[in-house]
Amino acid sequence: MALVIYNTLTRQATPFEPLKPGEVSMYVCGPTVYSDAHIGHAMSALVFDIVRRYLEWSGYTVRHVMNFTDVDDKIIKRANEAGRDPFELANSYAETFLEQLKQLNVLPANAYPRVSTTIPEIVAFIEALIQKEAAYAAPNGDVYFSVRSDDDYGKLSRRLVDDMRSGARIAPGEDKDDPLDFALWKAAKPGEPAWDSPWGQGRPGWHIECSAMSLKELGAQIDIHGGGNDLIFPHHENEIAQTESLTDKSFAQIWMHNGMVQLAGEKMSKSLGNLITISAFLDANSADVLRLLVLSSSYRAPLTYTEEVVADTKRKLERLLSALRPALGSTSAGAAADELRAAQEQSRSDFKAAMDDDFNTAGALAALFELVRAINTARDAGLSGSAFTSAQDTFKELAGVLGLRLEQPQQQATDAAPFIDLLITLRSDLRQAKQWALADRVRDALSNLGVILEDGPQGTTWRMEQ
Ligand SMILES: [Zn+2]
Repeated sequence: MALVIYNTLTRQATPFEPLKPGEVSMYVCGPTVYSDAHIGHAMSALVFDIVRRYLEWSGYTVRHVMNFTDVDDKIIKRANEAGRDPFELANSYAETFLEQLKQLNVLPANAYPRVSTTIPEIVAFIEALIQKEAAYAAPNGDVYFSVRSDDDYGKLSRRLVDDMRSGARIAPGEDKDDPLDFALWKAAKPGEPAWDSPWGQGRPGWHIECSAMSLKELGAQIDIHGGGNDLIFPHHENEIAQTESLTDKSFAQIWMHNGMVQLAGEKMSKSLGNLITISAFLDANSADVLRLLVLSSSYRAPLTYTEEVVADTKRKLERLLSALRPALGSTSAGAAADELRAAQEQSRSDFKAAMDDDFNTAGALAALFELVRAINTARDAGLSGSAFTSAQDTFKELAGVLGLRLEQPQQQATDAAPFIDLLITLRSDLRQAKQWALADRVRDALSNLGVILEDGPQGTTWRMEQ
């Protein structure tokens, strides 16, 4: 079965076929960097990281671009309040966000364009739109996109221009022909960063940056354009209008939108003051917990964040980690091995089927949990050897496609595993030789180090003390 992706533009899930065979171009709208990033920003980054990882695992080469909005009203306001340079302020938040993405195991994008380094391309884009009569320079030095010049304006958000026009009004200070027109270029105001342009000193509007950056980094047509579903209107609608008016080609084949993180039923946002920052989350939890939280439901649905959901996700993570415990027995073939091999193949094909179905990560996780159960059953039955390690390898491979690191909470435990196993073998030999006191000394010494031994009918297992 081929990969099927839900397209916001058509409101349908359709088989994915990149413009260039084997290559996928993907542009994802990044944050406006003026304050600490919150887990809503992390969700979008994680969703598109999972999309990218799966595409790469499926054999595609992915060119992934994410922008930083580093010129914006909010940045300027914040910088003025703090007495800081707006570029320095934006840069420090961008650097912190990049560091957090690394902590979250998000693969680095191929390019991170910023407004401040894309000004010539933005100006050229706007000039071309004016030439095509899709935009006009106003007497006050602003430049606006002319919505009435664009026949299919509204097609992404499914809004009708006539409906939008009724009730729309021109705000004070704007110099538009039509209330629906939006700014491509804003004339300079005192105390704001500004650049030279054919229309005088000024700075770009928000929407034009993504059209210009996408064109610069990925060309006129791209495969996937992504972002949060709060960007469908006006941001992505306006991006389509700008780019397609310039190129006369369809811009992105597929528009993918992730749902918002909801806290107590409300969208997490700075204006509502209900933020959980990425750094606060990572102080209390591992990166895998947040990723697993995102993986547990549809990327298009709202993500409900509560303490209970986080606690439940931690338990899920522990269950996943249990698959990595070493084999204990000495059986390497027979019914247990056959059963595990069958479960391994089933999990792999279930995983792929789920991910091919519009990145159904909850279904992919279910396939992983089936494999965890099969591995743990095989271990209890005393299975070891190649059948056991092969199943564990598949488990690690599939978890890796989802971007899970699956590190043991205590790193030293995994590093010490072969030595602990060695001591367990030694203790077992001592018991066979009826050297009870020495055997107990080994057990007690391990216990003092936080390693708990459990003797069972299939041999001795160990775990780290919680
Ligand atoms: Zn954007």
